[in-house]
Amino acid sequence: SSNGPRVLYWFRTDLRLHDSPALMHALSLNPSHLIPLWTWDPHYVYRQRGSANRWAFLVASMADVSASLTQLNPKQKLHVVRRAPGKIIGPLLKKWKIDVLVFERDTDAYARMRDDEVTRIAEALGVKVISVTGRTLFDCDEVVKHNGGRPTMSMGQLLKATEKMGDGTPNRPLDRPMSLPDPLDEKEMDLSELEDEVGSNGEQEPKFAGAEQNDFNAVQRTMGEEKNTQFSCGLMGPGKSFSVPTLEEMGIDPEDVTTPHKGGETVGLAVLAKYIANEEYIGTFEKPATAPTDFEPQATTLLSPHMHFGSVSVRKFWWDVQDVLDKRKKEKKHNSNHPVNLPGQLLFRDMYFAAHAKVGVPFGQAIGNPVARFIPWHLQSKYTVDEHGKPFSDGTYLVDDAQAEEYFRRWKEGRTGFPWIDALMRQLKREGWIHHLGRHAVACFLTRGGCYVSWERGAEVFEEWLIDHEIACNAGNWMWLSCAAFFSQFYRCYSPVAFPKKWDPEGKFVRRYVPELGMFDKKYIYEPHKAPIADQKAWGCVVKGDGTEKGNLGMQVYPKPMFDFNERKQFCIDKLKEAYGVGLYGADEKVLSGEWKKL
Ligand code: FAD
Repeated sequence: SSNGPRVLYWFRTDLRLHDSPALMHALSLNPSHLIPLWTWDPHYVYRQRGSANRWAFLVASMADVSASLTQLNPKQKLHVVRRAPGKIIGPLLKKWKIDVLVFERDTDAYARMRDDEVTRIAEALGVKVISVTGRTLFDCDEVVKHNGGRPTMSMGQLLKATEKMGDGTPNRPLDRPMSLPDPLDEKEMDLSELEDEVGSNGEQEPKFAGAEQNDFNAVQRTMGEEKNTQFSCGLMGPGKSFSVPTLEEMGIDPEDVTTPHKGGETVGLAVLAKYIANEEYIGTFEKPATAPTDFEPQATTLLSPHMHFGSVSVRKFWWDVQDVLDKRKKEKKHNSNHPVNLPGQLLFRDMYFAAHAKVGVPFGQAIGNPVARFIPWHLQSKYTVDEHGKPFSDGTYLVDDAQAEEYFRRWKEGRTGFPWIDALMRQLKREGWIHHLGRHAVACFLTRGGCYVSWERGAEVFEEWLIDHEIACNAGNWMWLSCAAFFSQFYRCYSPVAFPKKWDPEGKFVRRYVPELGMFDKKYIYEPHKAPIADQKAWGCVVKGDGTEKGNLGMQVYPKPMFDFNERKQFCIDKLKEAYGVGLYGADEKVLSGEWKKL
């Protein structure tokens, strides 16, 4: 209405119009004007960790939301402002004379710092700030409260807490809005006069207290190597249009976008609808029974990047699935059990989110982490103490064993000499997504099932390459796989040979991502070094060296295994036994004094 409030709606990881409790709340205020805003968050832009694939997914999601806003009201779009939120939102609230700022609540450690800062600025200006939960099935802070104030470290704890909060089911999804108020007129929207006030383009801002030191240590680790901070246009983008940025504008070469997976609410909802229409698939979905070696199509839904950017609502995903399960139950058809079924998968996501919400910054690091067991890996983050005596990673690593650094490098570059591992790492780099059990395989291999390298280093690579990267899920699952938390059966290791053979005896997956082995007989596809040399030559690829050598005369080269797997497996199990025997949880003092090296 014309005398309603002026509302600024700040989009972040909620790039959708359907089932958006925060957006619907904003509209329920009957705004006279509504400005859908996106700010250039340093968390997203100034960090170099994101791959071109993830940027492309993000930009597609932004463009899709923008188009949907325009469809509802031709004067509307996503207004992208090229400046960090802590710096720009204050001046925007003043310039646009905003009454209420609304956004979806985000309990990530970094997000909390950012949002607290922005809230403080807004409230000082007399602007009302409303944050509404909607990123998870259940409000994470409520879950923690109903879990006795503790992080949720098991599915059982999560379920108990949610049952105390109601009937254990999330709220039903909301519809998309039918109409949108106008933004301000062009003249009032214009921010030219702010250009100077908020500093030069691409300036690295703001420094939230502690954020640059502690957000998964990654902001810190990447400081000093920003490349994409210089934008070629002002605050409002080219032609003062508030346009969604192009990859070029962000300094990203579109040729570097190699993922086939596409972003945006429209695509995400279509993917969800396709699976939901397949009731047999939904009803019989069992995570451990889905093949990590399947591709085109992969065995699971691949909705995780949409979950991350909020282009598909997690509550809609849950309820669309649950309705199919309920229908099948009435029809007396078989449904798979919790938690291997799809609702169970989404609840794991909530479990990690709530644990992270409680633990905060240390959730992503080995040191000072109240839930992670400390294990003296051979390649370990190096820590220093800040002025408050709190440990943080200084961005470098301690190498106890030079070989561990080499193992890590070869793992990352997909040249371990274990085709299953190399295929997965190459798929991860190229496409930004790998199957859950593939993640299990490479995470186990890097940590307690081969290389004996810290889970933090692996999580950091995932952080860079995954299009679905989510701090809570990534750190949580890495702790699980490395037996630092959640899971402790360290004697159960994935074999890089026997495990994939069970799924894919022909080695189709390896042939696709490690094409130099394309001609190998299936007998040798997971252990090509065992093939007779004459066969190797006949198949066009010789197995030798560490994967850095070039072949000659059209002959390709694939590396020899970088170690004897069984030997390494036993070594790791023995080390883990030792670490568990010491019973160290967060052995901070030992790490800080350097004593851990002697363990
Ligand atoms: P589906 O099997 O179709 O499951 C549906 C949804 O449930 C997923 O989209 C996801 O939102 C959720 N989900 C499923 N499994 C898990 C799980 N174990 N933990 C949390 N949520 C889950 N997932 C991320 O979203 N971001 C990450 O950064 C991430 N890092 C991981 C790192 C490691 C080492 C491991 C082992 C797992 C990681 N996962 C992560 C969890 C899981 O592998 C992915 O969510 C899943 O493979 C995504 O594929 P999908 O959408 O086809 O999953």
